[in-house]
Parts: sequence; C-alpha cells; structure tokens
Amino acid sequence: MIEEFYDAVVVGGGPAGATAACDLATAGHLVLLLDRGGRIKPCGGAVPPRLLEDFAVPDRLLVARARAARMIAPSDRAVDMPVGEIGFVGMVDRDQFDEWLRVRAGEAGATRRKGVFETIERDGEAGPLVCYRETRDGPLRKIRTRVVIGADGARSAVARQEIAGAERMPCVFAYHEIIRSPAHRSEGFDANRCDVFYQGKLSPDFYAWVFPHGETASVGVGSANKGFPLRGAVKTMRDNLGLARCETVRSEGAPIPLKPLKRWDNGRDVIVTGDAAGVVAPASGEGIYYAMTSGRIVAEAAGAFLASGAPATLRRARRAFMREHGKVFWVLGMMQYFWYSSDKRRERFVDMCADPDVQELTWQAYMNKRLVRARSLAYLRIFLKDTAHLLGLRPAAQ
Ligand SMILES: Cc1cc2nc3c(=O)[nH]c(=O)nc-3n(C[C@H](O)[C@H](O)[C@H](O)COP(=O)(O)OP(=O)(O)OC[C@H]3O[C@@H](n4cnc5c(N)ncnc54)[C@H](O)[C@@H]3O)c2cc1C
Repeated sequence: MIEEFYDAVVVGGGPAGATAACDLATAGHLVLLLDRGGRIKPCGGAVPPRLLEDFAVPDRLLVARARAARMIAPSDRAVDMPVGEIGFVGMVDRDQFDEWLRVRAGEAGATRRKGVFETIERDGEAGPLVCYRETRDGPLRKIRTRVVIGADGARSAVARQEIAGAERMPCVFAYHEIIRSPAHRSEGFDANRCDVFYQGKLSPDFYAWVFPHGETASVGVGSANKGFPLRGAVKTMRDNLGLARCETVRSEGAPIPLKPLKRWDNGRDVIVTGDAAGVVAPASGEGIYYAMTSGRIVAEAAGAFLASGAPATLRRARRAFMREHGKVFWVLGMMQYFWYSSDKRRERFVDMCADPDVQELTWQAYMNKRLVRARSLAYLRIFLKDTAHLLGLRPAAQ
C-alpha cells in the first residue's frame, strides 16, 4: 500500500494552525491541515489592528470597530477609555475569520482535511504516524510525516500525548452568549464600545464583558473558580443591562489557558502552538493575535527542522516567542494576580483607569503588543500613582 506522506501535519485549523500551515506551505513544504470542523470557536473576537497588518488580514473581516472601552467597578462606577486617534479594537466573527484563514492556507498549497486527531504512533520507520478518523465510527487513518504541529486548542490532545506537563495547564473557563444587538443605543449597550466588568459578583477572579459585533454581541464571563455559576453571571448582566429580551443566537463556553507551557516541543518531532501551547495573555484573555504570532514562529522553527533534521531547532520557537512577548505576559500576570483578587482592589484598579497616562499606555501596549520604551517617565508616574493607591495615600477619583 502506498502510504500518504506530508512534510508537516498541522492538527487544528484555528488561528494558530491555519497561520502555521499557510506559512509552511508558502515556504514550499508539503503540508496537511487537519481540522475536526463543525464547531464555531466560542470567542469574544476582539483583535488589535496590528493583527490585520502583521498577517495581511483584510478589513472586511471586521464586523465592528470599538472606539472605547468602559471599565465598570464593583460599585458600578464606570470609567470610559477612548482609544483616540491611535486605532480601534477590531471585532471578528470566528466562523468567518477562521474559515478565511483556512482557505488562505489552502490557496498557499496546504491540503485541507476534515478529521479528528486521535494519536501519534511510532512504528520504527522514520517519522511519526498521525492517526485520525474522518467520522466518529470511520476507520482509523494514518499519515506519515516528519513533524507534527499541535494547534488543537486548549486541552490539546497532541500536547497531552507528547508534551510533559501539558495536562496540568491552568485555565480560566469562559462562557458567553451571542445575542442579537439591541436596535438602540442605551446606557447598557453601545455598538462602538467594549464594556468590561470588574465585579466579584460577576467573576471572582477574572472579568465579564459585552463586546459589540455589529448585528450581534458577545456577553460573557470567565473564571478559574470551578464552582462559580458562569451562566447565572451572564443572566445577571443581561438583566441589569436591559439585554434580557434580546434573542440568544448561541450559548457556548470553552477554557482559556492562563500560562505558556514550559516546553512546546517533545525534543523529537512534535511542537505545539496557540492555545495548545498556552499562549493567551493573562488578565485580558487575548489569544487570537498570540495564536497567530506563535503559529508563525512555530512554522519557522518547523521549517528549520525540516531543513536540518535537528530537533534542537524546534526549541527556538518558544524562546523567540517569549523574547518578544514574555515581558508583557509577566506584567499582565502580575496585574491579574494583584488587581483581580478582591472588590476593594478592583475598585482601585478601575479608578486607575481614569488616569490619562494609564489610558494612553494601555492602548499603546494593546495596539503595538509591546511595552512602550520611549515612555519610561510615564511608567514611572504610573508606578508612583499605583503605589500611592496601594498604600491608600491617594483617594479614589470621584
Ligand atoms: C469565551 C471566550 C472568549 C474569548 N475572547 C477572546 C477575544 O475577544 N479576543 C482574543 O484575542 N481571544 C479571545 N479568546 C481566546 C481565543 O479564542 C483563543 O486564544 C484562540 O482561539 C486560540 O487559537 P488556536 O488556533 O490556538 O485554538 P482554537 O481557536 O481553539 O483552534 C483549535 C482548532 O483545533 C481544532 N481541533 C481541536 N481538537 C481537534 C482534534 N482532536 N482533531 C482535529 N482538530 C481539532 C478545532 O476544531 C479548532 O479549529 C476567547 C476565548 C474564549 C473561550
């Protein structure tokens, strides 16, 4: 029997996998993109403009552009953070966005296939065998490859089988309801604004949100606290914001990883990326941009591996990613740990968001995906104000 062979098999066709497959195929490699299909990824769909630039994604995939964020404290005090001239928060619908990325990977030369990954086998011949089924009761199919890229999301089956420690990846569980947007702007909903609720009653350790998506909106909440009633929190929000009577289009939830894995590769022929590698920004839960960035970096490492055959080249991917984004992840992790831990701190956190320096640097960091070095004086000012807040030396803004 003639065995099917690919240089690389990418498992999972979300933003990470589709990007990796597209880049590897563009570089001339024989690539299979295996995705189980049939489910829209539950996601708020907020993306920075830099994603459109870095990955040549057309504007038309945006269903909305938010021009401000409203931060809401436990006391219901709201602080508006206008983005200003520097950009916007783009909104994508994941059914269209992901499919567009997969189509692009196909056009670049990747072979697309629908199937559910099951295991990686080794039979003593060169290269692993990726085993999958096209239907639940269908036969187990096997494909020979040289490198497997696991881009199958949080709780990745590839990572659990091949990467030490992956089964212990800490996660927030997020649940949201996609609703038909209300026809009229109200205090509780603005089609040009993202609302973010820092209230212990809605989430004891993360946040809740309302993101506008044009004709629809995402109303959601996340928490790592397993017993916390996420559905109840969304119901409370919808009741309070006058969104209870809007039609519910979908209700769905999924885990969001909280920390990059310590290893992304198995030291041999498998590497993971995106949620499977745990690359979601702490505090914000932003994962789409980082999934695509890590997909690109992993594709580069896999390309180097295909050229040299040296497993050590796979190691470079995590190092390169953390060099670029490790500091931001660390700062956001500290922020989440400290400011999301009690209503008293959340109140002060929202208070700080009224500060023009904080607003400017927050948006700069979001748009550019790095801490802005040129503004070290502003950081110092923020640090001093933060410290004053913490020590209770600075009264809450009225
Ligand atoms: C409720 C919620 C809201 C969020 N909101 C935002 C937001 O507003 N902005 C943001 O940037 N991020 C957000 N995120 C995070 C973001 O959705 C993820 O970080 C991002 O989707 C990760 O992309 P990925 O390609 O790594 O994984 P995924 O998007 O999860 O893609 C994984 C792919 O693998 C496929 N797959 C899985 N298992 C198998 C298998 N066994 N065989 C074959 N295929 C398989 C799936 O079908 C899927 O296509 C949110 C997450 C959640 C849960």
